[in-house]
Amino acid sequence: MRKLSDDERSRLSSRTRLVLGGRNPDEQFGFVNTPIYRGSTVLSPDAASLRRSDARFTYGTHGTPTTEALENAWSELSGAAGTALVPSGLAAITLALMSCVKAGDHILVTDSAYRPTRRFCDTVLARMGVETTYYDPYLGAGIASLIRPNTSAVLTEAPGSQSFEVQDIPAIAAAAHAAGALVLMDNTWATPLFFPPHERGVDLAIEAGTKYLGGHSDLLLGLVSANERALPGLRRTAEAFAMCAGPEDCFLALRGLRTMELRLREAERQGLALARWLEARPEVKSVLHPALESHPDHAIWKRDFLGASGLFSIVLNPVPEAAVDAFLDALALFGLGYSWGGYESLVIPFNCAAYRSATTWSPGGPALRFQVGLEDINDLTADLERGFDRLRDVAGSSGAAG
Ligand SMILES: *Cc1c(COP(=O)(O)O)cnc(C)c1O
Repeated sequence: MRKLSDDERSRLSSRTRLVLGGRNPDEQFGFVNTPIYRGSTVLSPDAASLRRSDARFTYGTHGTPTTEALENAWSELSGAAGTALVPSGLAAITLALMSCVKAGDHILVTDSAYRPTRRFCDTVLARMGVETTYYDPYLGAGIASLIRPNTSAVLTEAPGSQSFEVQDIPAIAAAAHAAGALVLMDNTWATPLFFPPHERGVDLAIEAGTKYLGGHSDLLLGLVSANERALPGLRRTAEAFAMCAGPEDCFLALRGLRTMELRLREAERQGLALARWLEARPEVKSVLHPALESHPDHAIWKRDFLGASGLFSIVLNPVPEAAVDAFLDALALFGLGYSWGGYESLVIPFNCAAYRSATTWSPGGPALRFQVGLEDINDLTADLERGFDRLRDVAGSSGAAG
């Protein structure tokens, strides 16, 4: 086999990168996949090498061939200078934040952020003397007015967790960079396949590998990819916290990586089909899916994103909570559970009203978040039909009683 030149490799499409990334069969006796290296100790051939400590692998927490394979594949896919691997998506968020703040700093966090991100800012960061201001996800370039001399980081997430606002990341990045602040983005929904973060101005991109990279609801993993500017701080912080990911988890992530494009494209297709079906239902007030023309942020999604994954929300016309619960309990194919990105469909009720502070969440009815899996779409809509039958039964009888 001929080896690709660096130049040829840099011009490959992301789909091909998923196949080649992180693989080096020459180093693995010709076997296609990098195996699971379990290990703490790495032996040095002699005293001089031990003292120099400049070998490719020196200790398990600093990396193994398995973790290196995943880091390299992810950096190549993301267009990043480097990647840090951590045990969960939330750990990726906390590591990325810790890598760019110090006591006395101020950070800006979108009001639409994943809720545990807020908890970390309001507890740990507050205790360390870092002040957080939550901002309206729709601020765009207007974020400049919230930036202070000590603002060191702006955290974005698009689309917003559960609520699906699409932020103008390039505009926010331009304003943050003009003031010297770093831009963080939770890019779990789109993955680097559907939103190339560093090309769009993001310095530190966060991905819960738990979702589409793992793809089978059997893995917890987080990844932070960084550009040249943010990488030294990320590496120092990961080392200081001794953050590392387990070799089996990295192996499973590498396995998931090979099919991630196929699964995401299918999630996009199925998700849109389900979203359109739901949009036509009389029980549904609105569907929050950025790839639908009806979504308020459709234009910005189309400008910046290369696709949509299979997670979206809906708002029901007002019904009592008992009717929503009857709907959920009647479903046989949609599991009631957190997380997403696996092969199976899920649904959860949610309400952002209790914790928003810069904006108000009042969508006009009960809200549900759907994760579409790989089941046949007709089976899924038949399942939802049965749910809506129950919803109407319960809503009707409670209406009569009230
Ligand atoms: C699930 C999720 C996370 C956290 O991932 P875990 O691996 O479950 O910790 C972070 N951000 C977003 C947007 C998520 O949906």
